[in-house]
Amino acid sequence: AKESGRNNYKFFSVEMNMQVDQQFAIERDLRLALEQEQLELYYQPKFNLISKEVVGAEALVRWNHPSKGFLRPDSFLEIAGQSELIIDLGDWVRREICRQLAQWQACGLELVRMSINVADKECAKNRVLQNILDQVMHYDIDAKLLELELTEETLTKGIRNEITDFKILERMDIQLAIDDFGTGNTSFQCLKELPIDVLKIDKEFTRQLASNAKVAAITTTIIDLAKRLGISCIAEGVENEEQAAFLRENGCEYAQGYFFSEPLTADNFALLLKKSSYT
Ligand code: C2E
Ligand code: CA
Ligand code: CA
Ligand code: CA
Repeated sequence: AKESGRNNYKFFSVEMNMQVDQQFAIERDLRLALEQEQLELYYQPKFNLISKEVVGAEALVRWNHPSKGFLRPDSFLEIAGQSELIIDLGDWVRREICRQLAQWQACGLELVRMSINVADKECAKNRVLQNILDQVMHYDIDAKLLELELTEETLTKGIRNEITDFKILERMDIQLAIDDFGTGNTSFQCLKELPIDVLKIDKEFTRQLASNAKVAAITTTIIDLAKRLGISCIAEGVENEEQAAFLRENGCEYAQGYFFSEPLTADNFALLLKKSSYT
């Protein structure tokens, strides 16, 4: 028994070492990726459900990994979040968006608002806003073209630590969206205390609209809440016509999801901007 106990311990520690090694490997690769421009932003358009016009887009980071191929953010953001890397990655994302907006503007495209996801860990350092202001100045773009998507948890930390200067966001007209709305437990506190512009209904709600009467009731209530507060409401993860119809009929103005468009490369998003609507 003693023997196997020791073996178990050994096995456990080998596994832990492997995890740590893997994390170091990903961190090292990611640092290189930032230097070598292996990251790329994709843009998922947001549409007006009535006019069908493109009203904005959410920037979503992708990693063209030299050996592992095309990686979605869930596979590396968590590891990035365990170190300072998440801050460098966020800085890269914000610079890239502003650079892209400036380029499109120079091409004469009519621009729409771009949403940037801000990770919890990034907010621990009060650099996000300063970084945005620097990029906006450097690329000479209109700050109104930007929106930040933060989850309730991140926003709540923001209130507690006063780390995000919401007043400056308001003054510059940078919009503030609550991402994954309804999945946290501080929704009402955020709405009461912060200058929120947008409620973003989580895709888990959208997914169950047709199959779960409670979810449908909650969703229509969120839509109504946004209306009463005088702010916008967008549903994410819309995958079919039924979901789009339900949202439209219940007064949700905006939507995003595979039913309308997947996240697009910058070039394909520019093509869509020229057309400016779906179907
Ligand atoms: P999120 O903010 O909730 O973004 C929505 C996710 O849903 C995206 O996954 C998007 O590609 C996916 N999606 C879009 N339409 C549909 C649909 O119709 N059905 C379903 N099932 N999914 C849909 P993605 O791109 O893999 O991003 C995952 C998460 O990674 C994002 O979740 C966001 O929290 C984070 N993320 C992405 N880019 C960035 C970034 O630049 N910075 C930070 N801090 N986080 C990012
Ligand atoms: Ca988001
Ligand atoms: Ca505002
Ligand atoms: Ca979400």
